[in-house]
Amino acid sequence: MYEGAIQDLIDELGRLPGVGPKSAQRIAFHVLSADPADITRLAGALRKVKDLVRFCTTCFNVAESEQCRICRDPRRTDEVICVVEEPKDVVAIERTGEFRGRYHVLGGAINPLEGIGPDNLRIRELMSRLSAGTIRELILATDPNTEGEATATYLALMVKPMGIAVTRLASGLPVGGDLEYADEITLGRAFEGRRAV
Ligand SMILES: [Zn+2]
Repeated sequence: MYEGAIQDLIDELGRLPGVGPKSAQRIAFHVLSADPADITRLAGALRKVKDLVRFCTTCFNVAESEQCRICRDPRRTDEVICVVEEPKDVVAIERTGEFRGRYHVLGGAINPLEGIGPDNLRIRELMSRLSAGTIRELILATDPNTEGEATATYLALMVKPMGIAVTRLASGLPVGGDLEYADEITLGRAFEGRRAV
């Protein structure tokens, strides 16, 4: 335990995901000995992300304007929507280069144990996008774990009666895992081999 500002910084860093007490201490002392200009830049980046970044009003990906870069891109097709849990999954799928449609970010997955039901996710917003009538296929790219599967099943039941093709990424993704940890080739193949549900 240290006194004052250095301990405050260690405490704040320790509250970040994936940062244990030892890392928090190491980062805090790095900040202490770093060039002041570097720390000003870091502080500015932290502030900017809170001030500028918001969620796309169409797909709920991260954006710096009303709509995200992907929703604004006129070269992408409006006929296919890929449903993911988090913005980081958009990045993972974009890296494969296999997908040229639009996304819809749910903001999580159905998880009764944590009290997350369909109403806590952006499912209502997805349904209103689908009712616009231009969508031919909905790709369910939720994580290959219990919550992701439950969410995919729920969405398939809701969307199939609307006459829209519903597909799920092919197997081969690490079961129980997180989409973002799949390598580009595996994820790209899972995309190509997606099957109707
Ligand atoms: Zn968007």
